[in-house]
Amino acid sequence: MSRKILVTSALPYANGSIHLGHLVEYIQTDIWVRFQKMQGHTCHYVCADDTHGTPIMLRAEKEGITPEELIARVWQEHYDDFKAFHVEFDHYGSTNSKATQVFSNTIYGKLKTAGLIAQRSIEQFYDPLKQMFLPDRFIKGECPKCGANDQYGDNCEVCGAAYTPAEVKNPYSAVSGAKPEMRESVHYFFKLSDPSCQKFLQDWTTGKLTKEPPLQAEAANKMQEWLGEAGDNKLTDWDISRDAPYFGFEIPDATGKYFYVWLDAPVGYMGSFQALCEKESLSFDEYWKVGSKTELYHFIGKDILYFHALFWPAMLQHAGYRTPTKLFAHGFLTVNGEKMSKSRGTFITAKSYIDAGLNPEYLRYYYATKLNGSMEDIDLNLEDFVAKVNSDLIGKYVNIASRASGFIHRLYDGEIARKETQRDFATWDATSILHEARSGNTNSLPTLLGLLRGDAKEIALSYEFRDYGKAIRRIMERADLVNKVYDAFKPWEAAKTNKNLAGEICVASLEAFRLLTIYLSPVLPKLAGNAFEFLNLPKQNWPDVNSQLRLGHKINEYKHLMTRLDPKQIEAMVVANQENLKPMPETHSPTRHTEAQQHAITPIADTISIDDFSKIDLRVAKIINAEHVEGAEKLLKLTLDIGEEKPRTVFAGIKSAYDPAKLIGRMTVMVANLAPRKMKFGMSEGMVLAASGDAPGLFILSPDDGAQAGMKVK
Ligand SMILES: [Zn+2]
Repeated sequence: MSRKILVTSALPYANGSIHLGHLVEYIQTDIWVRFQKMQGHTCHYVCADDTHGTPIMLRAEKEGITPEELIARVWQEHYDDFKAFHVEFDHYGSTNSKATQVFSNTIYGKLKTAGLIAQRSIEQFYDPLKQMFLPDRFIKGECPKCGANDQYGDNCEVCGAAYTPAEVKNPYSAVSGAKPEMRESVHYFFKLSDPSCQKFLQDWTTGKLTKEPPLQAEAANKMQEWLGEAGDNKLTDWDISRDAPYFGFEIPDATGKYFYVWLDAPVGYMGSFQALCEKESLSFDEYWKVGSKTELYHFIGKDILYFHALFWPAMLQHAGYRTPTKLFAHGFLTVNGEKMSKSRGTFITAKSYIDAGLNPEYLRYYYATKLNGSMEDIDLNLEDFVAKVNSDLIGKYVNIASRASGFIHRLYDGEIARKETQRDFATWDATSILHEARSGNTNSLPTLLGLLRGDAKEIALSYEFRDYGKAIRRIMERADLVNKVYDAFKPWEAAKTNKNLAGEICVASLEAFRLLTIYLSPVLPKLAGNAFEFLNLPKQNWPDVNSQLRLGHKINEYKHLMTRLDPKQIEAMVVANQENLKPMPETHSPTRHTEAQQHAITPIADTISIDDFSKIDLRVAKIINAEHVEGAEKLLKLTLDIGEEKPRTVFAGIKSAYDPAKLIGRMTVMVANLAPRKMKFGMSEGMVLAASGDAPGLFILSPDDGAQAGMKVK
């Protein structure tokens, strides 16, 4: 039966770049949506930029542009990043839209009518210089527990203590540096403490109101902690207003008061879907009214469960809308087993990945192997990443097409000249198929295809339950088997003595390749598209598993489907992200230097011998040319004279710190015997030395006056 499904991913905040951590969610969602569409279901995927709040307002101000200009620029960046990774939204909007405002007002109005909006005066820090109330994150001061300087108003990064801004010693405004004052202001609250809200959330989160529980078991347990038992009334009211100046929607009946960004953010799902409805003449109500027969799924990170499992359903319920069918929460991304880190270069932006020339489908594939539908964190181990992509995608899957197609072209002019025999050997498992193949029994070929077709249901279930890792394991097991069966028949020998046999093996291999491509399509949409083009077939959907390559069908010339992942590209990407450590002065702190000193020293590396050191050939280099590189965000192209016949070309990640024109003629120091690295923009023949730390700035080295190009540095 065909289903009608609406899917969302969490809205990225319009105050930063998309990084590989974000992509876990968008790739996970996109795979699921593509899978549903391949099943023939109606599935809409919407998302939007989350654009409101104090950080956006302040950043725009700092850049000297309007918030609208800032969010338009970031929208385009986000949109391009998603597109590059083949994340295909049906609509990608912005919460700063008329539709989102209308829905926010409607929901607020209905909550008010239901008696669920309260007003209370609260005390909050106020920046007298900047004339604005300060969010907790914009208060800094000394930690009340350990006395560390420059700590945020809500927790200490040195000792880990959590506290309120009022407890901070010697507080100052991170915006202006001024000493903040306590001031009173009236705020609006959503009365989550109301017994009707508590009762509803108890029932909803435990699945009493729906056919299936809306939360994963681990998420439901978390909710139990927050909600307590029936009658516990552990929830407190939710502050939904902020005072002007604020970038957001003004509350309809309250001049100078704005909806807090977390109120209109999830409403952005509705706003974005409304835009899609207008574009494609869909019925908004069919998906959002109470009693809707359609399905609604939110993919989110575990950090925003609180908003999506408590505030959001309570808002919808009491404003007369349907609640989500399910929330799919996922864990965080670690890189090489650790939190992503800017100093290690593992805080990798989507753009730097693409700029390093890496194929986005490598990452889609790797994430798919790791995702299992739980809230566990997933690890991007960079070594394993290279190994898996190369051994699975290139060594197993693509390999089938590249080796079988040659014989089809050579022996049969690209034509499928052998008909697949339809035999039922359903009792043969993978082991017996391989055994029979090795004893030359060609019945193993149709049986192998029967086995692959029989996998369709189980692989579909794995996708449906977001256990992509399980689906991939099965697919790669089969790809491995296909290669082994191929090897068993040695078609390269058969081609000389028994053309029919060689044809039969290669046709069966191509058919297996077609089936595997269907199974991999949700994860690798572009590669699958190219594979179907090579097979001279239209895009295949799940039901096409039951068709086959027809007798007389002609395939196209085989073209390289995917190149191996070169570990050097990964190194370059990590280096580029390290080099990208340009200072971002987010705040104006009167004691910035203390802050820098606190973190100044990174641990000294392991001791090395003088022999180790002498392996590095450092030379004085004269910068004879320096220029921008088109399309490179961080790199400058340097031409360096070190006294050799031909000058060297070095790409250095110093664009953020130096104007190329000012570098020309300068002397510096380079590593002259570093293995050349192939970068996207050309070969880099060495490395220029530069100093950097957690503190702002990037500084290339210079020798004292009199040093000549080519002199050894030791
Ligand atoms: Zn502390």
